[in-house]
Amino acid sequence: MDSVIRTRTPEVLSEGVRDQYADGIAAEAWDTIVGDIKQRTQVYKDFVVGLLREKGCKRILDVACGTGIDSIMLIEEGFQLVSVDASDKMLKHAFNGRWDRRKEPGFDDWVIKEANWFTLTKDIGHLIGDGFDAVICLGNSFAHINDTYGDQREQKQILKNFEMCLKPGGFLLIDHRNFDAILDGGVAPARCIYYNSSCVKDIKTFIPSVSGVPRMIIFDYFLSLDENNEDLKNRHKFRLSYYPHRLNFFKDMLREIFSQKTHKIFGDFKPLNEVKDPVFFIHYIEKK
Ligand code: SAH
Repeated sequence: MDSVIRTRTPEVLSEGVRDQYADGIAAEAWDTIVGDIKQRTQVYKDFVVGLLREKGCKRILDVACGTGIDSIMLIEEGFQLVSVDASDKMLKHAFNGRWDRRKEPGFDDWVIKEANWFTLTKDIGHLIGDGFDAVICLGNSFAHINDTYGDQREQKQILKNFEMCLKPGGFLLIDHRNFDAILDGGVAPARCIYYNSSCVKDIKTFIPSVSGVPRMIIFDYFLSLDENNEDLKNRHKFRLSYYPHRLNFFKDMLREIFSQKTHKIFGDFKPLNEVKDPVFFIHYIEKK
C-alpha cells in the first residue's frame, strides 16, 4: 500500500499552523524574554499610540497578541481591543492578565479569542462589523508562516485576511526582523527594542538551506533566571523557527495585496533614514 501522502494542502504543510508555542516554555518565559515591559512598551507607546491617535483609531485588532503585552498597553491607553492568537498556551497568559485587571477601565470589554490567520475572517467574522480602525501584527509573528508552494500564496492569503478585517482607510501595522542582515551576517542580535532582558544569555541562529537557498531561520533561545547563570535549574532553552523574507520581497507582497504603490517603512520605530542597521522593520499600510 502506498503510504506516501501526495495531497498537499496548506493545512498539512504549513508550519504556521503548527503551534510552536504549544509546549508552553516560551509562553512561561515570554515576559522574561521581553525584559522590562515598560521599557519595551514605551517605544510602542510613543510610536503606535501616536499613530493610532493621529488617525483617530478606536477599535484595534491585535492578530498576534501572544501573552497580551501590546494589547494591554493599548487598553491602558484607552483603545478597544480584540486580541487573537493561535496558541492557547500564549493566550492563557492574556486571559489571566484580563482576569487580574477586570475591574480596571477597558479590561472588562477586552475580547480575547483563539483564532488562526488562515481562517481569521471565519474565526472572528462576528466581531469584524464595519471593520477595525487598525490591525497590528507585531513581534516578528508573521515570519512564522512558511512559503510552502514557493509562490507566497499562503502569506498573501493571510495578508488578505488581515486586510479584510480593516475598514476602508484603516491600516495594518506589521513588523519583521531585519532578515536581510541575518541572512547576510548569520546572527540575530539578542538585545533590541523588543527584547531587552538580561536573562537572554544567547540566541543561537541556524539557517538551513535547500540547494543553497536559505529556507528557514531557527533561533535557540538560552535564558538564565539567575544573574551568574550558575544554577542549572534556572536555565531554560526553547526554539522558534521562522521563514525569512527580505525587505524588498515583503514590501512588494504588501503593496500587491493592499493595491498600493507606496507605504511607509520604519526601522526600530524610527524613519528608515535615521537608523543604521535596524533590528526590526515596521510597515504601515492603509486599506483603500
Ligand atoms: N505580539 C506578541 C507575540 C509575538 S510571538 C509580542 O510581541 O509579545 C508570535 C505569536 O504569533 C505567537 O503567540 C503565535 O502563537 C502567533 N502566531 C503564529 N502563527 C499564527 C497563526 N497562523 N495564527 C494566529 N497566531 C499565530
